[in-house]
Amino acid sequence: MLAIDMGGTYIRYKSNKKYGTNNKYGSVKTKNVNINQFLKELVSMYSPSKVAIAFAGQVCDNKILSSPNINVKKISLDVPYVLENDLNAAALAESRYFSCKHLVALYSGTGLGCGAIENGKIVRGFKNLACEIGHVPYKKAPFVCGCGKDNCLELYASGSGIEKWAKYSGCSNKLEKTCQKMRDAYLEAITYAAELLVTIFNPQILVLGGGVVKNNEFVVEHVKRHIDSVVPSFSRCKILKSELEDASLKGAEILLKEMA
Ligand SMILES: [Zn+2]
Repeated sequence: MLAIDMGGTYIRYKSNKKYGTNNKYGSVKTKNVNINQFLKELVSMYSPSKVAIAFAGQVCDNKILSSPNINVKKISLDVPYVLENDLNAAALAESRYFSCKHLVALYSGTGLGCGAIENGKIVRGFKNLACEIGHVPYKKAPFVCGCGKDNCLELYASGSGIEKWAKYSGCSNKLEKTCQKMRDAYLEAITYAAELLVTIFNPQILVLGGGVVKNNEFVVEHVKRHIDSVVPSFSRCKILKSELEDASLKGAEILLKEMA
């Protein structure tokens, strides 16, 4: 069995068995490889009976619908495989980690993403496109999002958004070092995203994760403090920081076990 986390920056993989001199784990930079060629190499290295891929893009029925950050249009593999959105996979892993069947994961990394688990199952929507929180209309920005719009939440509450504002304003592109105005705009946006999700999904736990959250302890504290003042007490939930190292990869491992 082979689990793969295919992100915009890195591809990480984990085999359940060691084959010859090949390590069980590995990673490569996404932009350095031809995706299908690389998958073929992995399959010949590990001979897995099945493969699960947590993919940083929109996928439905094992097909790629859109892939703004990874240069691939179609996955071709000769072994049985499952292709899942990476945030859905991460939410599944968080749900198992916290033993919680009603959980929402909100990750602020390069992008702003979310996955929701309802009664232990991934909330998918018609085309597996539920929970695209990053592209909820928010406020007009002086630049555009990866999706082509100029008013997405992702432009305010993600690492790529911070980068864009940093370039525009000349402030630092690190949340902890940047100017007060940019930091406040980020906190306001991530809190808004959290409020939306808590209001819509009524989770028992909202997990905050992703690189920007992990590197800035104060984000979770801020969201916790502010959400209590706007969300009615009857719909409040636990707000926790993600403890998982690579939730999407762990989610892919869970998907492998669930495959027939
Ligand atoms: Zn967008």
